Amino acid sequence: MEALKQRILEEGIVLSDQVLKLDAILNHQIDPKLTTVMGKELAARFRDQQVTKIMTVESSGIPIAFVVAAELGVPLVFARRKKTLVGDTETYSERVPSFTKGIVTDIMVSRQFLHADDRILFIDDIIANGDAARGLIKIIERAEATLVGMGVVVEKCFQQGASSIREQGVRLEALVKIKSLEDGKVQFQE
Ligand code: 5GP
Repeated sequence: MEALKQRILEEGIVLSDQVLKLDAILNHQIDPKLTTVMGKELAARFRDQQVTKIMTVESSGIPIAFVVAAELGVPLVFARRKKTLVGDTETYSERVPSFTKGIVTDIMVSRQFLHADDRILFIDDIIANGDAARGLIKIIERAEATLVGMGVVVEKCFQQGASSIREQGVRLEALVKIKSLEDGKVQFQE
Protein backbone atom coordinates (compact mmCIF):
# COMPACT_ATOMS: atom_id res chain seq x y z
CA MET A 1 0.00 0.00 0.00
CA GLU A 2 2.01 2.94 -1.33
CA ALA A 3 -0.38 5.60 0.05
CA LEU A 4 0.03 4.19 3.55
CA LYS A 5 3.82 4.02 3.25
CA GLN A 6 3.82 7.67 2.20
CA ARG A 7 1.70 8.70 5.19
CA ILE A 8 3.96 6.75 7.56
CA LEU A 9 7.03 8.49 6.13
CA GLU A 10 5.39 11.91 6.36
CA GLU A 11 3.57 11.61 9.69
CA GLY A 12 5.18 8.77 11.67
CA ILE A 13 7.67 9.70 14.38
CA VAL A 14 10.46 7.25 15.17
CA LEU A 15 10.71 7.31 18.97
CA SER A 16 13.42 4.64 19.23
CA ASP A 17 14.77 1.62 17.32
CA GLN A 18 11.68 -0.22 18.60
CA VAL A 19 8.79 2.24 18.57
CA LEU A 20 7.14 4.22 15.79
CA LYS A 21 4.60 6.79 16.91
CA LEU A 22 1.60 6.72 14.55
CA ASP A 23 -0.78 8.95 16.50
CA ALA A 24 -1.48 11.05 13.38
CA ILE A 25 -3.08 8.14 11.49
CA LEU A 26 -3.74 5.20 13.83
CA ASN A 27 -3.45 5.70 17.56
CA HIS A 28 -4.94 9.11 18.32
CA GLN A 29 -6.26 10.79 15.16
CA ILE A 30 -8.14 8.76 12.55
CA ASP A 31 -8.28 9.65 8.87
CA PRO A 32 -11.59 8.20 7.67
CA LYS A 33 -10.54 8.11 4.01
CA LEU A 34 -7.27 6.32 4.66
CA THR A 35 -8.91 3.98 7.19
CA THR A 36 -11.61 3.10 4.66
CA VAL A 37 -9.04 2.27 1.97
CA MET A 38 -7.05 0.14 4.42
CA GLY A 39 -10.12 -1.70 5.73
CA LYS A 40 -11.36 -2.45 2.21
CA GLU A 41 -7.97 -3.88 1.27
CA LEU A 42 -7.90 -6.22 4.29
CA ALA A 43 -11.51 -7.26 3.66
CA ALA A 44 -10.65 -8.11 0.03
CA ARG A 45 -7.84 -10.41 1.14
CA PHE A 46 -10.21 -12.50 3.30
CA ARG A 47 -13.47 -12.14 1.35
CA ASP A 48 -13.57 -15.82 0.34
CA GLN A 49 -13.17 -17.12 3.91
CA GLN A 50 -16.84 -17.17 5.03
CA VAL A 51 -16.03 -14.88 7.94
CA THR A 52 -18.88 -14.59 10.46
CA LYS A 53 -17.31 -12.07 12.81
CA ILE A 54 -14.49 -9.53 13.01
CA MET A 55 -12.61 -9.30 16.29
CA THR A 56 -10.09 -6.76 17.57
CA VAL A 57 -8.75 -5.44 20.86
CA GLU A 58 -9.73 -1.97 22.04
CA SER A 59 -8.96 0.69 21.20
CA SER A 60 -6.72 1.37 18.21
CA GLY A 61 -7.89 -1.64 16.20
CA ILE A 62 -11.54 -0.57 16.27
CA PRO A 63 -11.74 1.95 13.38
CA ILE A 64 -10.17 -0.31 10.77
CA ALA A 65 -11.93 -3.40 12.13
CA PHE A 66 -15.21 -1.51 11.74
CA VAL A 67 -14.50 -0.88 8.04
CA VAL A 68 -13.61 -4.55 7.48
CA ALA A 69 -16.81 -5.62 9.26
CA ALA A 70 -18.93 -3.24 7.19
CA GLU A 71 -17.29 -4.46 3.97
CA LEU A 72 -17.87 -8.14 4.80
CA GLY A 73 -21.33 -7.50 6.26
CA VAL A 74 -20.62 -9.12 9.64
CA PRO A 75 -20.55 -7.87 13.26
CA LEU A 76 -17.46 -6.53 14.97
CA VAL A 77 -16.64 -7.62 18.53
CA PHE A 78 -13.82 -5.85 20.35
CA ALA A 79 -12.11 -7.38 23.35
CA ARG A 80 -12.30 -4.95 26.23
CA ARG A 81 -9.37 -4.07 28.46
CA LYS A 82 -10.89 -4.52 31.84
CA LYS A 83 -10.14 -6.10 35.19
CA THR A 84 -11.91 -9.44 35.23
CA LEU A 85 -13.35 -11.18 38.25
CA VAL A 86 -11.81 -14.51 39.20
CA GLY A 87 -14.22 -17.31 38.39
CA ASP A 88 -16.44 -15.18 36.12
CA THR A 89 -18.18 -17.73 33.93
CA GLU A 90 -19.79 -15.16 31.63
CA THR A 91 -16.56 -14.06 29.95
CA TYR A 92 -13.35 -15.33 28.44
CA SER A 93 -10.35 -13.40 29.72
CA GLU A 94 -6.59 -13.38 29.26
CA ARG A 95 -3.80 -11.38 30.87
CA VAL A 96 -1.55 -9.62 28.33
CA PRO A 97 1.50 -7.38 28.69
CA SER A 98 1.06 -4.04 26.92
CA PHE A 99 3.98 -3.17 24.64
CA THR A 100 3.58 0.59 24.69
CA LYS A 101 2.33 1.09 28.25
CA GLY A 102 4.72 -1.32 29.97
CA ILE A 103 1.92 -2.76 32.11
CA VAL A 104 -0.14 -5.93 32.17
CA THR A 105 -3.84 -5.71 31.36
CA ASP A 106 -6.71 -8.15 31.17
CA ILE A 107 -8.59 -8.45 27.92
CA MET A 108 -12.04 -9.93 28.02
CA VAL A 109 -14.82 -11.02 25.66
CA SER A 110 -18.33 -11.92 26.73
CA ARG A 111 -19.32 -15.51 25.91
CA GLN A 112 -22.51 -14.01 24.50
CA PHE A 113 -20.63 -12.69 21.45
CA LEU A 114 -18.24 -15.54 20.59
CA HIS A 115 -19.40 -19.04 19.68
CA ALA A 116 -17.97 -22.35 18.49
CA ASP A 117 -19.53 -21.95 15.03
CA ASP A 118 -17.91 -18.52 14.45
CA ARG A 119 -15.28 -18.00 11.75
CA ILE A 120 -13.21 -15.13 13.07
CA LEU A 121 -11.07 -12.62 11.21
CA PHE A 122 -8.86 -10.83 13.72
CA ILE A 123 -7.91 -7.25 12.76
CA ASP A 124 -5.41 -5.08 14.64
CA ASP A 125 -3.39 -1.89 14.19
CA ILE A 126 0.22 -2.91 14.82
CA ILE A 127 1.89 -6.19 15.64
CA ALA A 128 5.09 -6.01 17.68
CA ASN A 129 5.86 -8.86 20.10
CA GLY A 130 2.44 -10.35 19.51
CA ASP A 131 1.30 -10.49 23.13
CA ALA A 132 -2.04 -8.82 22.49
CA ALA A 133 -2.62 -11.09 19.49
CA ARG A 134 -1.71 -14.27 21.38
CA GLY A 135 -4.14 -13.28 24.15
CA LEU A 136 -7.05 -12.85 21.75
CA ILE A 137 -6.11 -16.04 19.85
CA LYS A 138 -6.25 -17.97 23.16
CA ILE A 139 -9.72 -16.59 23.81
CA ILE A 140 -10.85 -17.63 20.29
CA GLU A 141 -9.41 -21.12 20.89
CA ARG A 142 -11.12 -21.44 24.27
CA ALA A 143 -14.43 -20.64 22.60
CA GLU A 144 -13.63 -23.35 20.02
CA ALA A 145 -14.28 -20.82 17.25
CA THR A 146 -12.26 -20.95 14.00
CA LEU A 147 -9.63 -18.28 13.37
CA VAL A 148 -9.49 -17.81 9.60
CA GLY A 149 -6.67 -15.28 9.77
CA MET A 150 -5.33 -12.02 11.05
CA GLY A 151 -4.95 -8.70 9.26
CA VAL A 152 -2.86 -5.82 10.59
CA VAL A 153 -2.02 -2.35 9.32
CA VAL A 154 1.64 -2.48 10.34
CA GLU A 155 3.89 -5.47 10.97
CA LYS A 156 7.19 -4.66 12.65
CA CYS A 157 9.28 -7.48 11.20
CA PHE A 158 12.21 -6.94 13.54
CA GLN A 159 10.06 -8.09 16.47
CA GLN A 160 8.90 -11.66 16.86
CA GLY A 161 5.11 -11.36 17.06
CA ALA A 162 4.17 -11.87 13.43
CA SER A 163 6.58 -14.73 12.77
CA SER A 164 5.56 -16.58 15.94
CA ILE A 165 1.89 -16.30 14.99
CA ARG A 166 2.58 -17.52 11.43
CA GLU A 167 4.50 -20.45 12.97
CA GLN A 168 1.28 -21.38 14.81
CA GLY A 169 -0.25 -21.83 11.37
CA VAL A 170 -2.27 -18.62 11.31
CA ARG A 171 -2.50 -16.71 8.02
CA LEU A 172 -1.33 -13.17 8.87
CA GLU A 173 -1.60 -10.36 6.31
CA ALA A 174 0.00 -6.93 6.84
CA LEU A 175 -0.64 -3.79 4.77
CA VAL A 176 2.92 -2.62 5.36
CA LYS A 177 5.94 -4.37 6.79
CA ILE A 178 8.63 -2.40 8.58
CA LYS A 179 12.10 -3.90 8.48
CA SER A 180 13.85 -1.45 10.75
CA LEU A 181 13.59 1.84 12.64
CA GLU A 182 17.33 2.24 13.07
CA ASP A 183 18.99 5.68 12.87
CA GLY A 184 15.60 7.36 13.17
CA LYS A 185 14.51 6.09 9.73
CA VAL A 186 11.59 3.90 8.72
CA GLN A 187 12.77 1.14 6.38
CA PHE A 188 10.05 -0.88 4.67
CA GLN A 189 10.36 -4.52 3.69
CA GLU A 190 9.40 -5.02 0.05
P1 5GP B 1 2.31 -6.45 20.84
O1 5GP B 1 1.36 -7.06 21.82
O2 5GP B 1 2.25 -7.08 19.48
O3 5GP B 1 3.72 -6.40 21.38
O4 5GP B 1 1.88 -4.93 20.68
C1 5GP B 1 0.64 -4.66 20.14
C2 5GP B 1 0.07 -3.31 20.47
O5 5GP B 1 1.01 -2.40 21.00
C3 5GP B 1 -0.44 -2.70 19.19
O6 5GP B 1 -1.82 -2.97 19.05
C4 5GP B 1 -0.12 -1.24 19.30
O7 5GP B 1 -1.25 -0.52 19.74
C5 5GP B 1 0.99 -1.17 20.31
N1 5GP B 1 2.30 -1.00 19.63
C6 5GP B 1 3.29 -1.91 19.52
N2 5GP B 1 4.36 -1.38 18.89
C7 5GP B 1 4.03 -0.12 18.58
C8 5GP B 1 4.71 0.94 17.89
O8 5GP B 1 5.87 0.85 17.43
N3 5GP B 1 4.02 2.10 17.75
C9 5GP B 1 2.76 2.26 18.22
N4 5GP B 1 2.17 3.44 18.01
N5 5GP B 1 2.08 1.30 18.87
C10 5GP B 1 2.71 0.12 19.05
